[in-house]
Amino acid sequence: MQISFWGQTLPQLQQFFAARGENPAKAALVYESIYRRGQRDFAALIWLKEPLRRALDEHFSLALPQVIARVDDGESSKFLLRLADGHAVEAVLMRRRYGIFLCLSTQVGCNMACAFCESGRQKKQRDLTAAEMLAQVLAVEEASGEKVTNLVLMGIGEPFDNYANTCDFLDIITAPEGLNLGPRHITVSTCGLPQQIRAFARRPRPTNLAISLHAPNDALRQQLMPIGRAYPLAQLLEALHEYADSTGQKLLIEYVMLQEVNDGAEQALELAQLLRGLPCTVNLIPYNETAHLQFSRSSKERTMHFYDLLKQQGMSVTLRKELGAEAKAACGQLRAEILSQPPEQS
Ligand code: SF4
Repeated sequence: MQISFWGQTLPQLQQFFAARGENPAKAALVYESIYRRGQRDFAALIWLKEPLRRALDEHFSLALPQVIARVDDGESSKFLLRLADGHAVEAVLMRRRYGIFLCLSTQVGCNMACAFCESGRQKKQRDLTAAEMLAQVLAVEEASGEKVTNLVLMGIGEPFDNYANTCDFLDIITAPEGLNLGPRHITVSTCGLPQQIRAFARRPRPTNLAISLHAPNDALRQQLMPIGRAYPLAQLLEALHEYADSTGQKLLIEYVMLQEVNDGAEQALELAQLLRGLPCTVNLIPYNETAHLQFSRSSKERTMHFYDLLKQQGMSVTLRKELGAEAKAACGQLRAEILSQPPEQS
């Protein structure tokens, strides 16, 4: 049975060559041909002996997921991709002044059940493999004709709930012989699993790390994010300080602005107090309202007041530009909509 080539780390491919009595150094050349030169047929690698080309072809599939829906709004394009087993995942391409960003999914559904999140309504059905994460990048590049320069693992799923596959994927996409994406061009976003945050800090060449915080105290966080019950803020903050100390990196704190829920003046001051001493930037995110959830987007006035208060407290703060509301960019929105439609009658 074939396995996906996109899940092969370079050391694994070298083993494949060594097991056949071939020079493992050829694996790097295969990687280069496939990833750098866009070769999509092992038969075309004529500098390899024919039996080896055949073995590669028999062993590995170069198939990509099929694009089953696409929504564009100029600045972003959202793709719904059909995986080999019929499940569908979303990937969002965002065109910014400073690069082409792709937001990837790491699981089919998500078990973290954040109250404001469309994906949280769609229970996890399974983890994505490293191959399926990589194939999202290639499928979107092929469908859009655009080269992805930055990656954010902020789509459907919790990357650290699928830790080993996420790390394999990062090893493959950053391999110098392959796509060679710099770790500083990648941001992994987690809802806050302290053990995995510590393990991630110990990896060579760490990526940027974003934390979905969304509340300045345990009581509110536990209402919005059930994970807060397992890991209170004190425990999470301890792991974040460790991460910042051992990697020397500044963290990104994600804070979705929910009208009259987490956007009050007192909450801004509480947040500044909570994060004092942590090297971080707070990113305030406008909420994308969805028909299924009762939350509303904070008004401009409340958002700006919250922003100003954090600034006055000496915090580094950014306001995420609203992108992709038309492209149904709130994570899980396109998937929920397409999959809830009745199948087409033939
Ligand atoms: S916000 Fe992220 S972690 Fe929370 S339910 Fe949605 S996808 Fe899962």
